[in-house]
Amino acid sequence: MICARYDAGLSRRGLMLILSSPSGAGKTTLTRMLLQTKDLDLTLSISVTTRPRRSSEVDGIHYRFIDRKQFEAMRDAGDLLEWAEVHGNFYGTPREPVEKVLAQGRDVLFDIDYQGTQQVKQKTAEDVVTIFILPPSMKELRARLERRAEDPPEIIAKRLDNARNEIRRWTQYDYVLVNGDLQNTFDDLSSILTAERLRAGRLNEGIAAFVEKLLAER
Ligand code: 5GP
Repeated sequence: MICARYDAGLSRRGLMLILSSPSGAGKTTLTRMLLQTKDLDLTLSISVTTRPRRSSEVDGIHYRFIDRKQFEAMRDAGDLLEWAEVHGNFYGTPREPVEKVLAQGRDVLFDIDYQGTQQVKQKTAEDVVTIFILPPSMKELRARLERRAEDPPEIIAKRLDNARNEIRRWTQYDYVLVNGDLQNTFDDLSSILTAERLRAGRLNEGIAAFVEKLLAER
């Protein structure tokens, strides 16, 4: 059983829901809202990173914070589904936890950048749904980064510079949302997830068995 609201007990393949956006566009908050909505039954892929931990972050929950040597060992052993260098730090998605969740017919949520998104898409395009989140304005993006006050000013400046470059990547995504209002964006995300879960191609096995049973009815 996946989730009463979304299926009629039909088994299906799990999907990989990728959220990307420049830092400060609200992706972290939206990710939290998605995970707190238990009905959605999403599992977050916890990345490894060489970036220093922020004071608000917990190791093993927001990221697994590792050093560069550990990162390179994981990458070279093929333990990462994808990896990228972002703002001078390394980030990567451990492969095994993702494969475990997908094998249960459940869905995995990723908060990764456009470079990682491309790598995952190249490997398993049909199981991947990609969403890009845009800020309503650059002014608002800057205000959000400053309000967060978790990064020193030079890092904020670097993130704003990078944001312009990242924003141009929107064309690579299946869906693009402008996050002017958190609740509206969250509702849109839920709608996308619902529709994608119901795609015939994903329900294949479950539907085939269901239809067989349906047609056997007299
Ligand atoms: P932050 O340092 O603000 O947590 O993340 C910086 C950027 O790295 C964000 O755009 C985030 O989506 C991206 N990121 C986080 N984890 C991963 C990962 O495992 N792989 C890739 N490719 N990007 C990641």
